[in-house]
Amino acid sequence: MILLISILFFGYLVTSLLSGLNLAHLKASIQKGLPPEVSDLFDATKVAQIAEYTVAKTRLGYWSEFVSTAVVIILFAAGIVPQITLWADALAVAPLLQGLAVMLILMLIGYLSGIPASLYSDFKLEKKYGFSTITIKTWLGDQVKSLLISGILMALLFSGFYLFINWLENWWWLAAWGLVVAFTFLMIYLSPVVLMPLFNKFVPLEDEVLKNKILEMARKADFPLAGVYQMDASKRSTHDNAFFTGMGRTRRIVFYDTMVKNYSHQELLSVMGHEIGHWKMKHIFKMILAVSVLSGVLLFAASRVLAHPWIYNAIGLGDLFIDTGFNGPLIGVALYVVSILLEPLNLLLSPLMNWQSRKYEYQSDAYALKLNPSAGDMKGALIKLSQKNLSNLFPHPLYVIFHYSHPPLLARLKAIDDLEKGKGNSSNYATSTATSDT
Ligand SMILES: [Zn+2]
Repeated sequence: MILLISILFFGYLVTSLLSGLNLAHLKASIQKGLPPEVSDLFDATKVAQIAEYTVAKTRLGYWSEFVSTAVVIILFAAGIVPQITLWADALAVAPLLQGLAVMLILMLIGYLSGIPASLYSDFKLEKKYGFSTITIKTWLGDQVKSLLISGILMALLFSGFYLFINWLENWWWLAAWGLVVAFTFLMIYLSPVVLMPLFNKFVPLEDEVLKNKILEMARKADFPLAGVYQMDASKRSTHDNAFFTGMGRTRRIVFYDTMVKNYSHQELLSVMGHEIGHWKMKHIFKMILAVSVLSGVLLFAASRVLAHPWIYNAIGLGDLFIDTGFNGPLIGVALYVVSILLEPLNLLLSPLMNWQSRKYEYQSDAYALKLNPSAGDMKGALIKLSQKNLSNLFPHPLYVIFHYSHPPLLARLKAIDDLEKGKGNSSNYATSTATSDT
């Protein structure tokens, strides 16, 4: 129990320290002033607004992290987890349903503990800075839909795990791994056509001229694109973004409606070129592969840990384990424990994943420049994204290492300039560290 709580507390401490460092660095950097090459792009009011927004978001992060960690610690320390498990064990239903009930209840408690922060973010903080346009009706609809979807998906995965544990004993992890990987690919394939339309309307890009330019670019780059869409993101917020989603016949590029209005065709094409770069260099596939290998290792480790009584003794369920073995409601608790321990572990692994991801961003920028050789357009798009989204211009390098999957704006602009001057080399890429999702 002490070990479990220490791990959770360690995760909380590291996250908070990183955020604190990040804020201190922001304040110091603003006092120093912007580097000359971008000082005319962000005036003093904008810089102050960015700082204020970053501080407000960080504070909210401290609180929500504190609440979610505290709730999990209380669940274990106050003996609520064993109570729920024993309650489920006494239910007159199949052991699979007992396990499922335990897991869903614990996950639901976690979800409920996140609601105040989510309400504050959507209706106070994001409204104050003019981002949030969400209505309470849309918000409620989102909550109900995502709860239902995640409940169903979780129940399906859980049932698979449950059956494998019962059929294959020590080898269950291998089948569970296959299931997780197959599930990941299925979700990538289905999400643009099944899940995302539940939340947003997707229509083919209305600007025909732009659409043709994009299709032409895709043809030239030999990029099989199933569609160019725009999405009504403005019904929730005015943040800008564009993304690439789906697989095979569902592969598409999606622009937020807010973005289509405010960017020039050339700027949007440079974003498109960047996305093609990701595909050409198989970045997404490589990332999925890395995550799949990792999940295999984690599942193997989980299967070994969960076979021993100590974890059940630690959370006050030793007697039930002697009684039933690793079965029924204990499978629900065990998978819940694994899922909450994954978060601190994720934090430790994030530098590696983010480093790889940032490297891919630089590579895709370089590719986009070859395809559409205007550094000005590309920088224009990145700068607009940053200004519009109030992205922190001065993240602390350590914060970048842990949290940034995209290089910060200034580093990314510099890399583009270096490429332009023909000085770009791969060593720049490894150490530099934007906060756009393009
Ligand atoms: Zn990218």
